[in-house]
This record gives sequence, structure tokens and C-alpha cells, in this order.
Amino acid sequence: NADVAKNRAKLDGRGSVWFFDQQLHDELLHQHRLVDRLEQALDSGGLSLHYQPQVSAVSGCIENLEALLRWQPAEGPPISPAEFIPLAERSDLIHRLGDWVMETACRQRAHWRDAGLAIERIDINFSGRQMSRSDVFERFEACLARHGLGPRHIGLELTENVLIEADDRILEGLRRLHHLGFRIAIDDFGTGYSSLSYLKHFPVTALKIDRTFVRDAPDQPEDRAIMEAAIFIGHRLGLEVVAEGVENREQLMLIREMRCDLVQGFYFFRPMPALEMERVLGGLVTGHQGFVG
Ligand code: C2E
Ligand code: MG
Ligand code: MG
Ligand code: MG
Repeated sequence: NADVAKNRAKLDGRGSVWFFDQQLHDELLHQHRLVDRLEQALDSGGLSLHYQPQVSAVSGCIENLEALLRWQPAEGPPISPAEFIPLAERSDLIHRLGDWVMETACRQRAHWRDAGLAIERIDINFSGRQMSRSDVFERFEACLARHGLGPRHIGLELTENVLIEADDRILEGLRRLHHLGFRIAIDDFGTGYSSLSYLKHFPVTALKIDRTFVRDAPDQPEDRAIMEAAIFIGHRLGLEVVAEGVENREQLMLIREMRCDLVQGFYFFRPMPALEMERVLGGLVTGHQGFVG
């Protein structure tokens, strides 16, 4: 353990190397166990999807939902997808997870359609490794077909880096979906290592401005400037612009002034389980009304 390692490091100079190895080893072991537990959770119904609305910045009406994966282990605190998705990406588990998310979101969307609930799309996040699977588009379309869904019902979110690293096969597949009328959003816009020129080649319909800009915009002129520029360029390219992570009224007011189209964030709704979402969509519960005026 760490104390032993420190003492050894004191005893001989090479000990520090041993200490580093030990830390790395512990970290890898921890990751390995986490992936094992994640796989068990997937097999035993331990995962769920939560849904977070995107609302119109003008009317506050719910326009679409984003599906977000949740893992609540039988014991202990929930584990964030920001932690376990990158780990799953290092193995084939990401493909099984991706299939599960797709199937669950499609089944839910079909269920809400049959129940007559008023929503448009559910958007699904796709990571880089998921897109590089050779039959990802066939699986996506097969899943929608199984549930009788089309481009109005399900959309995609990809980060800038995924788009930039996309090869011809992926771009061709995305162009096809875009042509069919599917909505494709660039997630976490402004945080990748992008040059803006990629925007003209890629078949996208929306930009989601990363929440770090939204968070800092009220206090930081630089973040405000970047947001304004992103909204301007998005609109000039005919894209819909979404602000992520809106947590307070001050941020909302700024974003509305900048003429952003949609907002998503805790100020309106936190991501919530399907049943709770259903109550909101059914009009039994309303979101934050504070944006009016
Ligand atoms: P993302 O796609 O950018 O999702 C938005 C994240 O912002 C979500 O975190 C959401 O809970 C959080 N968020 C929304 N509004 C607010 C707000 O007002 N304040 C703050 N502080 N946060 C807000 P979450 O659910 O922890 O997901 C983290 C990331 O994990 C996602 O970022 C996405 O990259 C990835 N992820 C989640 N679900 C999936 C999935 O089904 N498949 C894949 N491939 N990735 C997923
Ligand atoms: Mg997303
Ligand atoms: Mg995002
Ligand atoms: Mg993110």
C-alpha cells in the first residue's frame, strides 16, 4: 500500500518508480473491476435511462428529450456516465451498452407515441468507439424499424472530436441519416480541438454549446463572446443552437438575449426517470416557469 511504498521510496531511490508502478497497478485494477461490475449491471437490469428536456428559449415549452444513461449499483452511490463510459469505450462493452441504450430509448419513444404523449424526439449520445463499429448504422435503423419509429422520433448527439475523427464510412452513414431527415447534434460544442471549417463538411442540424461557457458567461466576457459567436455562426449555417447546463435565471436571460433556440439545464428540469418524465409530459407537473418576462 501507499505507506509501504513511501517508506521504500525513502530507503532507496528506485523506490519512487516502484511507488508509481503500484499506483498505476491499483488504478488499473480499480478500472478493471468497475468494467466487470458494469457488465453485471447491464446483464441484471442495473442500468436505466433518465430523460432531460430541452425547452424553447422563447416559450419554455418542451421540444425534445436527451436520454442519459444511469448506473445505480445495488450498494453505494450512483456512478456517473462521465466515469464509466470512457472505461467501457476501452472494451467491446461499449457496443453492448450502446445497443441497450438504443433499444431502451426506442422502446420508450414508441411507448410514449402509443400513449399519445406530446413530445418530438429523444436524442441519444454516441461515443467515438460506437461509431467506429462497422454495422452501427444498420443497427440503428433496424432498432428504429423494430419499433416503427422514424427521423421525427430519435436523434443523435456526437461530440466534435467524434466528427473530426470520423472516416469516410461514418461520414457517409451520417450523410445518409441526415438526408433521411434525422437530427444530428454536435455535443459539447467549443471544447474539442476543432477548426471551424469542419462545420461546412459535416451533416449536422444542431450545435449544443458546452455548459462551461454557459456557466461562466454571466461573469466572464470571454465566455460570453464565445457563446455569441457560436450562436451567430450556428444560425448563419442554418443550425439550431442549444445551450447546455442552464442553472439560473441570470444565465437564461443572457442566453435569450443572444437568441439561442433551445435551453437544457437544471433551471428547468434535471434528468429524470421515465415515469417522472411521463408525468411531466402528461401535463401533471410543470417545469420552472420563471423564464417568462
Ligand atoms: P452530455 O451528453 O454532454 O450530457 C449532458 C450532461 O450535462 C449530463 O450529465 C447532464 O446530467 C448534465 N447536465 C444537464 N443540465 C445540467 C446543469 O444545469 N448543470 C450541470 N452541472 N449539469 C447538467 P451526465 O448525465 O452525467 O452525462 C455525462 C456524459 O456522459 C454525457 O455528456 C455524455 O457524454 C455521456 N453519456 C451519458 N449517457 C450516455 C449514453 O447513453 N451513451 C453515451 N455514449 N454517452 C453517454
Ligand atoms: Mg449529449
Ligand atoms: Mg453535452
Ligand atoms: Mg459532456
